[in-house]
Amino acid sequence: MYVSGMGTDFRDINNDGWTDYIIGNKGTNSFYNPSKKHPLEIYSKDFDLNGTVDPIMTHYIGETKYIIHPRKLLIDQIPAMNGRFDTFSKYANASFNQSFHPEDLKETYHAYASTFQSGILVNKEGKFFDFLPFPNEAQISPVFGAISAYIDDDFYEDIRTYGRGHEEYYRRALNDMVRFLRFHGDERPVVVAAEPGDTHPALIRVKDYLTWGEELEVPVDLVVLAVGITPRKVDNLIKMLKISPGNDRFLLEVHPKLRPVETAVPGVILAGTAQGPMNIKESCTAASAAAAKVSALLSQGQVELEPFVAQVNPDKCDGTGACIDVCCYEDAIILKTITTNGRKVQRAVVTPANCAGCGNCVSACPNRAIDVQGWTLSQYEAMVEAIAIDNWEAVEVTA
Ligand code: SF4
Ligand code: SF4
Repeated sequence: MYVSGMGTDFRDINNDGWTDYIIGNKGTNSFYNPSKKHPLEIYSKDFDLNGTVDPIMTHYIGETKYIIHPRKLLIDQIPAMNGRFDTFSKYANASFNQSFHPEDLKETYHAYASTFQSGILVNKEGKFFDFLPFPNEAQISPVFGAISAYIDDDFYEDIRTYGRGHEEYYRRALNDMVRFLRFHGDERPVVVAAEPGDTHPALIRVKDYLTWGEELEVPVDLVVLAVGITPRKVDNLIKMLKISPGNDRFLLEVHPKLRPVETAVPGVILAGTAQGPMNIKESCTAASAAAAKVSALLSQGQVELEPFVAQVNPDKCDGTGACIDVCCYEDAIILKTITTNGRKVQRAVVTPANCAGCGNCVSACPNRAIDVQGWTLSQYEAMVEAIAIDNWEAVEVTA
């Protein structure tokens, strides 16, 4: 029997002169519902001999015993398991007996739980106890980890947990009887009104692909849809600051890993859900990074410009002005009248302080007259050729 924080109490309930015990257990409202035949077990010893005890919990799926912990938790605990399970699929398909050799299990502490029911141990004249479980209504899960968001059935199309510790949230939700079903996009769940006299006002019908296409009918009290976040309409701001939205219309950073809160416009910093859906932790992280960037900028007292700006070759430029049409930055590139060989001609001229080095003008110029310094067209062409080459032995390398 698993005894949780619900506690125990003792008294002579049936007035027979013998002390009976009221046992608070985990309850049956749980993903794990152990029985004598299929108990929840724990094997515990210092498996990797690092001085700390490594408890391994197991449960049954059908007639096969599996480890409960996600692969990462197990490897965190016993790093050598990384060699045994170098892929998630190997781990997912391995039973407990395939995961641990009998030799590994020698001298382990082994305990098991065969019920999570709460109930009363009725004292039979001091000789033995009869276990009398509480009715179903009293078999509610103990308080730990129970959050209202966890106690409703859930209808996500798929499950992905990506952050540190998020797999643990998923596991806890499973423990608290949240059921995750998987359906195909063209077979969405259907909500229907229940028949008069049914216990619940509505039913959800869904084909669940986690159980190989089983047709499920789930009675529910309430259906709550989790709606995706959408970007606000900030077209004016985008136009004013000359920053770029992504394809999803959230504001775009320069690089999601290397410069995650900076925009292509120097001095314009992003934070929070302007960039896309974020949870509180991610928003706070982005806000801290943005504050650090701003204070670093202000503390310098002066701003150094990037050297990677456009440069026009006046010998190739014929003054068509296509580059000016595509430039988003005021006066970054303009047409100027200059005198060459005694003739007055128009040529594009870049003002480096206004140029953001975006390269729009490079792609618009029909005469290949513009390059962004450090990223010239000839450098790009050399890189593409190097990527595409299929006979390296024929390449002559010169020092
Ligand atoms: S690189 Fe961009 S900002 Fe600079 S002149 Fe060309 S289009 Fe304008
Ligand atoms: S598009 Fe090219 S050729 Fe035309 S003005 Fe600009 S730099 Fe000159």
